[in-house]
Amino acid sequence: MSTIFTKIINREIPANIIYEDSDVVAFLDADPATPGHTLVVPKQEFKDIFEVTPEVLNKVMAVVQKIAHAMKDTLGVTGVNIVNNSGEVALQTVFHLHIHVIPRYDRNEYGYKRPPKLDITNEETIIISKKLQKALS
Ligand code: 5GP
Repeated sequence: MSTIFTKIINREIPANIIYEDSDVVAFLDADPATPGHTLVVPKQEFKDIFEVTPEVLNKVMAVVQKIAHAMKDTLGVTGVNIVNNSGEVALQTVFHLHIHVIPRYDRNEYGYKRPPKLDITNEETIIISKKLQKALS
């Protein structure tokens, strides 16, 4: 199902588009976490990280790196956060895959913080690790 991002890609609604090629578009977030907060979006509609093909994801991530370099070169940022929310439980709100590139100018700015650390036992960690190792082998 199409979202607002397809309307942006098709120029049906305005956005501050900063990059475009045949497969990928990047535009500034309407509600930025820091100045220059950018969304990198494949033109083809994929809901999230579970649906996107590795080929398209590779193209998106190549653009993410380009944007990060451009931010470093022109905005004077010293770091970026690269974020993807996939699924409602992960707080995804627009169901067209996108990668957030959030420029960081200063460690504690704008309230953008790392999530709190989890209290988890070593035994629980080992169980999770074994399940994932099995699924990935
Ligand atoms: P999510 O929560 O799905 O990871 O991120 C969706 C992002 O899209 C949010 O940061 C939100 O501010 C941004 N967004 C939602 N609607 C629009 C829009 O119409 N234009 C732009 N430029 N950004 C949008």
